[in-house]
Amino acid sequence: MTSGELLSMEVRGEGDVFTLRQRARVVADAAGLDQQDQVRLATALSEVGREVLNQAGGARIAFSIDGGPLRVRVRGYGPLSPAAPGFAAAARLVDEVTREGEDVILSKGLPPGRYAGEWLRDLRATLAGLAKTSPLDELRAQNQDLMAALEDVQAQRDELEETNRGVMALYTQLSEELERTNQGVVALYAELEDKSARLREASEAKTRFLANVSHELRAPASSILGLARMLLDLGDPLDDEKRRQAELIRESGRDLLNLVNELLDLAKAESGRIEPEVVDVSLRGLLRRLKETLGPMAREGVTLVVDDPDGVEILQTDELMLTHVLRNLLTNGLKFTERGEVRVGAHADGDHVLLRVADTGIGIPAEEIERIFEEFHQVRGPIQASVTGTGLGLPYARSLVAILGGEMTVRSVVGEGTVFEVRLPRLDRIHLGRVVIADDDAAFRTLLRGLLHGVAVEIEDAPDGYAALAAVRRARPDLLLLDLRMPGLTGEEVIGELRADPALADTPVIVVTSADTGGIDGVALDKSRLTRGELLRAVGEIGKRDA
Ligand code: ADP
Repeated sequence: MTSGELLSMEVRGEGDVFTLRQRARVVADAAGLDQQDQVRLATALSEVGREVLNQAGGARIAFSIDGGPLRVRVRGYGPLSPAAPGFAAAARLVDEVTREGEDVILSKGLPPGRYAGEWLRDLRATLAGLAKTSPLDELRAQNQDLMAALEDVQAQRDELEETNRGVMALYTQLSEELERTNQGVVALYAELEDKSARLREASEAKTRFLANVSHELRAPASSILGLARMLLDLGDPLDDEKRRQAELIRESGRDLLNLVNELLDLAKAESGRIEPEVVDVSLRGLLRRLKETLGPMAREGVTLVVDDPDGVEILQTDELMLTHVLRNLLTNGLKFTERGEVRVGAHADGDHVLLRVADTGIGIPAEEIERIFEEFHQVRGPIQASVTGTGLGLPYARSLVAILGGEMTVRSVVGEGTVFEVRLPRLDRIHLGRVVIADDDAAFRTLLRGLLHGVAVEIEDAPDGYAALAAVRRARPDLLLLDLRMPGLTGEEVIGELRADPALADTPVIVVTSADTGGIDGVALDKSRLTRGELLRAVGEIGKRDA
């Protein structure tokens, strides 16, 4: 007997199987296994007992614990196959069933404990003192096990039911909360939509008002200016004092007319009523001319520096608009710089040109930096009082840059200076092969053709949604310009069809419509204020998405 051996017994007949089962339970109990594991082990061994009787006419079975798990060695009177049903059933009830030579070993892990010395001796004595069980006793014991197992299952089911009830309650509560939140979000969205519609209306009303009022003001302002000039030109009849007053009238008239003109320009730009006239612009020439006209404005101790363009000579854009933007930025730079320099330059940046106006002037406080693009906003400061200005220059310049398809940004450090950057698309870099224009309005298709002039190689028209789909299938265009409200298929339906077809799903689409584009997932442009710049900028944006 090895030091860890507990018990060994012969299984020769049915009666021994009951005894084996009983001993197994006693060992399991003594080793601290819980009720369920005791039943498992006992059942496993009774399966094994029956199996060895069947297969080999009996076996010698030995229990041992050697520091590790409980091991049960089964040595059959004839050969044993551990794959037989009895062993397979046992394998599900213990941790492992393995082979060692001719023997089959069952092992079952035990809770931590000291299974040695006195403990082993006591258990051996208990086992040795056990009487052979009768089938009746063992039946009773098995019934008890069954009852215990049933009670256990019932308890578990009760617990599960309770847990389920808890989960259901939590779920109901959560979904109610979710619903309430959803309702809130929906209401919030409705309110937001309402607010933004009203904002849009207000902004349009403001633009209309600016346009109308400045129109009305221009005539009287021009007459005041003319009359003042006449008064001064008359010569003799005015004494010095009167002449001074007439000069004041003339200057005020001029300021008024400037203001009115700027307002008118801004209103036009904001309503999208100006179309850029794109030509080849020599950046070097443009920058030089700006230096000549604005250089004399510089204060003493301030230089206007023009850098040569870097990596780009010719830019396709509207020359007047670009000149206006840069003149505004340079004038501001010169106005708000008391020493150092104002520097302007241009450099290529991929498919864009970056124009930069940097000064070493007073700078703009961080909290004002976005407000300078609002109409009439001027930063209060020491220089402001001594320079002229309306606060309309930057909003106008930013609108012009948008019309050119670009964007304007600014950064500044108070006391160190300000840098304005204008990013414009290099339209000559934008090349489209085939374009399909889908719109039921023939006049608008012609307008779009015009806007794409020089950019697209081949343009195909589609007067409705079905024609659009057919054209895309046939031509596989680099771009589909798509109206939403069309006979046959609507624009949304065309998009749906394209997305559903793997071969066409990647077709780049720009929606151009006067309908609401809120639900469109993609690039959408407003028909009523579409410009070439805007369209090309959208093309560039789509290119960026694909990249
Ligand atoms: P204006 O120059 O006619 O007042 P702008 O819209 O061009 O109007 O500029 C708005 C304001 O932004 C200016 O009044 C000035 O306070 C501030 N600003 C613009 N450019 C600069 C600059 N380069 N440095 C400091 N402040 C500037």
